[in-house]
Amino acid sequence: MARVYNFAAGPAMLPEEVLRQAAAEMLDYNGSGMSVMEMSHRSKEFGEIIATAEQDIRDLLSIPENYQVLFLQGGATLQFAGIPMNLMRNKVADYIVSGSWSKKAYKEAQLYGDAHLLASSEDGNFSYVPDVDAIEISPDADYVYICQNETIYGTRYNKLPDTKGKPLVADVSSCFLSEPMNIEDYGVMYGGVQKNIGPAGVTIVIVRDDLIYEDPLPFTPTLMRYSAQVKGKSMHNTPPAYGIYICGLVFKWLKAQGGLEAMKKRNEEKAAILYDFLDQSKLFKGTARKEDRSIMNVPFVTGSDDLDALFVAEAKSHNIVSIKGHRSVGGMRASIYNAMPKEGVEALVAYMAEFEKDHS
Ligand SMILES: *Cc1c(COP(=O)(O)O)cnc(C)c1O
Repeated sequence: MARVYNFAAGPAMLPEEVLRQAAAEMLDYNGSGMSVMEMSHRSKEFGEIIATAEQDIRDLLSIPENYQVLFLQGGATLQFAGIPMNLMRNKVADYIVSGSWSKKAYKEAQLYGDAHLLASSEDGNFSYVPDVDAIEISPDADYVYICQNETIYGTRYNKLPDTKGKPLVADVSSCFLSEPMNIEDYGVMYGGVQKNIGPAGVTIVIVRDDLIYEDPLPFTPTLMRYSAQVKGKSMHNTPPAYGIYICGLVFKWLKAQGGLEAMKKRNEEKAAILYDFLDQSKLFKGTARKEDRSIMNVPFVTGSDDLDALFVAEAKSHNIVSIKGHRSVGGMRASIYNAMPKEGVEALVAYMAEFEKDHS
């Protein structure tokens, strides 16, 4: 069996131990005689799976009691609507746009109320994060919205905006559980799990109790109401049960790795290997501003479309796949989430060095 180093932005690599455990339990989960896929979501076994998963993510992120954890469907994209529907009491919200994902969220929010653009880095093709000290929060804003790690452009916030007491809402899809985060800095934190946690199909929403309203915007579908999902313990309807089970295995894996402090250390080490190479390379160049560089997604280019294409084409023979950049940036992108081993990053850098030698 040949496993590849998969640098995809998402769905992305999962820890091999997790895949092996899922394989071992595929036909008979814990003596139940069936797969988790075949199980009633109302069964005792699944009840334990989802309760344990919730407790484990609470432990990992030290989530306070006054925050609810929801396992939902519809991807991060459905929450672009779910956030304004649930939170836009005054029909005003402030958005900072630092890439395609926050731009999409900002556009979606315009369908439901007055979405203000506080700042944008589109003028620099989203190669940086706007200066959060220069923003002015709207006095009647229901929340302030950011995408904490912009997956396509490879930037992240090093400092959160001071929201002047307004709830901060953050899309953390591509940095979820990559390092410790202080939940109390946020009103809502959410993300699709297919980047750094599990298989596509599960969205995790962490929401503070006082933001769970019984009367969201009137047309909000019941399934999208945080209040209904809290009441149903994420099981207002059939949840993405198998996906939640895999997320639960990943939470256990993260705990066994030493938790999020340990992951942060490993992720910073991996990113440094790649950035150190990029910073001295005469051929390859990172596209994000140095101060704002993500430790999860690393876009880079050679400056020549032909060489970029050749680098991507020849990567497979080095066991490296899905290294092509997003079409809006071009070039290459290495997504180096939790499950990417250091050896994978070392293999990439070795290939880059060899390629540079051959083409300069
Ligand atoms: C991938 C991604 C999304 C979209 O996720 P879906 O689950 O496909 O809706 C949104 N935000 C960020 C930051 C992402 O990386």
